[in-house]
Amino acid sequence: MTQPIDLRALDLFAFCRKSESLSGDVAVRDLPRILAETAAQAPASAPEETLAYTATGFVREEAAEPGAPVARRLFLDVTIKGRMWLDCQRCLAPYAEPIDTATRFEVVESEEAADAAPMDDDEVDVIAGSKRFSLLELIEDEVLLALPVAPKHDACPSVHESLVTGTDGEAQPEAEPEEEKRPSPFAALAGLKNKH
Ligand SMILES: [Zn+2]
Repeated sequence: MTQPIDLRALDLFAFCRKSESLSGDVAVRDLPRILAETAAQAPASAPEETLAYTATGFVREEAAEPGAPVARRLFLDVTIKGRMWLDCQRCLAPYAEPIDTATRFEVVESEEAADAAPMDDDEVDVIAGSKRFSLLELIEDEVLLALPVAPKHDACPSVHESLVTGTDGEAQPEAEPEEEKRPSPFAALAGLKNKH
């Protein structure tokens, strides 16, 4: 009864019209653009990590705008949860950025229709559907869009890291941002240890 679903070639129109839904995990290694953005120093297991997704199609009978004729409009809700390894811009060490997105798309007939769609709805992104739609690419797009412009640890382990690797003689006291004067690296390390 269940047919294997090709996430790279989904009939998105039928998926939405039939109010179908899908959920599962996709491995980072199957997402080339995400793999390309993954920190070079990420753990070796990073490509094997997975992102959990849900995709839910549905139809609404409603006017595209007030006064317009009521039409059958197709929608797709997509959520993605997981994490992605990025380079911290403050201390340059890799860290796992949590990913947790929820996006509603209106699915239209063509690229032209998507381009022509009014941009006034902040809550719904308009995408062109296809009978061979790649949900994987949409998941990639969503993850990449969700990434911070300046990826950073919430609190960098930079003092500790730089002392261990010895690559940075000027340890920044990131662990204690209130402190104006720079403590000696050993004082900073002692301070860090006291916090654990
Ligand atoms: Zn950092």
